[in-house]
Amino acid sequence: MDKSVLVMIPGPTPVIKSIQEQMGREIQAFGDPRFVKCYKTLIDDLGKLFNCSGKTFPIAGTGTLAMEMAIANTTKRGDNVLIVSNGFFGDRFIEICERKGLNVDVLAAEWGECVPVGDIDKKLAEKSYAAVTVSHVDTSTAVVAPIAEIGKVLKKYPDTIYIVDGVAATGGEFVDVDGMGIDLMFTGSQKAFGVCPGILIVWAGQKALARRKALGTIPEYYVDFEKWIPIMDDPSKYFATPAVNLVFAMSEATRIVAEEGLAARHERHNKNATAVRKALETIGLSILAKPGCQASTLSNVIYPAGVDDAKFRSTMISEGVVVAGALGAYAGKAFRIGHMGNITVNDMVQLIGAIERSLAACGAPVKLGAAVGAYMEAMGS
Ligand SMILES: *Cc1c(COP(=O)(O)O)cnc(C)c1O
Repeated sequence: MDKSVLVMIPGPTPVIKSIQEQMGREIQAFGDPRFVKCYKTLIDDLGKLFNCSGKTFPIAGTGTLAMEMAIANTTKRGDNVLIVSNGFFGDRFIEICERKGLNVDVLAAEWGECVPVGDIDKKLAEKSYAAVTVSHVDTSTAVVAPIAEIGKVLKKYPDTIYIVDGVAATGGEFVDVDGMGIDLMFTGSQKAFGVCPGILIVWAGQKALARRKALGTIPEYYVDFEKWIPIMDDPSKYFATPAVNLVFAMSEATRIVAEEGLAARHERHNKNATAVRKALETIGLSILAKPGCQASTLSNVIYPAGVDDAKFRSTMISEGVVVAGALGAYAGKAFRIGHMGNITVNDMVQLIGAIERSLAACGAPVKLGAAVGAYMEAMGS
């Protein structure tokens, strides 16, 4: 039998038993009244939980499809779009927008840093942008953007749609869609919700919905809000087959997030992130993201000199934990850990213990137990 491996990458994240069980339920027809009720409840609950007075779209697909959905419904060929990029996933919007024939301006930060809000304000004052995109947490750098502050700046630019990529954040970092002035936000099921990959969620506020209307017929089909709005209002109707068992699983995950509360969940993530960063620093590792813009959902961790990335990560797997490689210029020099969703202190102890042993196996001078101890101490009783 395969031995189980704890998945501590920035998505998919560990899927707890009660959510797994929903995945394994007997299939239902999408028109079955029991499923229709479950889907409608999920749509409404997700809208309420994240305070979006517009429409909420939990549909089959991944985060990348949600990125396309965001752009498809708010822009038309020839529009100007401002992309605020704190790493790889910020940059992903460049190609999506260019393929659609948009004029793209990019504000990019050094990896580990965050584009200053003042720079965004200045850029928006220069010309008229149909939309601005910001990753709440960029998964390549583990940098968190000040999305509430950016939302305040956007109030000065009523013709610009504020798009937030929440894929590695929503359900971990705190967010309030209407309250923060976000016009469109999205995430994927496999990150801080702790569900298997396969569902995306888009929250579209009133301003984004009005923009969609103003666009008339758009070239895209599956991701068109106008195709999905009748289904989101009444899921007994058909447009494209819902991911039935993922809807079951998302319902359980959403129940868990709501029960914990968004603020409490963020506080838990933040405390855990602070503790793990501190613990890893005690054994010679360093954190890519600068203090003040470190995400609570994942970390990008730089190796001490002499540690071989491939050997470290394969040793981690033999120790029963998988972590992710770093991207871009940090490939081979750093690794990434997810610490989001329905994870426990025990998962973290297992992760940190495996990191200690794997570093030691790679020749780093690690005192076994030092990081685990520092983590436990920082978490308190
Ligand atoms: C994972 C991720 C994506 C892409 O999502 P997929 O589900 O892999 O398509 C986009 N943006 C961010 C910030 C992510 O972390």
